[in-house]
Amino acid sequence: MTLPACIQCKSEYTYHDGDLIVCPECAFEWKEGEQHGSADEIPTIVDSNGQPLEDGDFVTVIKDLKIKGSSSVVKVGTKVKIRLVPDASDGHNIDCKIPTIGAMKLKSEFVKKA
Ligand SMILES: [Zn+2]
Repeated sequence: MTLPACIQCKSEYTYHDGDLIVCPECAFEWKEGEQHGSADEIPTIVDSNGQPLEDGDFVTVIKDLKIKGSSSVVKVGTKVKIRLVPDASDGHNIDCKIPTIGAMKLKSEFVKKA
């Protein structure tokens, strides 16, 4: 039987301590079978540093991002205001508008909170 991932930070390195499950990464402890928050909680979207992002946050792009189907590049350091897309199926979980380019979707792993 495999242990569930940490319900707080999603770490997979959890272990049993009595009837508790312990996460060594964030020190969170919980009872097996216990749910964290409500079942329909929106998954947290975090930036490249693991900082949670919110609608309306400003982020900066941490690497040059080529835009599919065009010669445009979103330059590293570009600052944009974001809208979260928590249910994105392709991993592009941030919506934003980039000056001179327009609306596009980004992956949260390529930005950091400004
Ligand atoms: Zn954890």
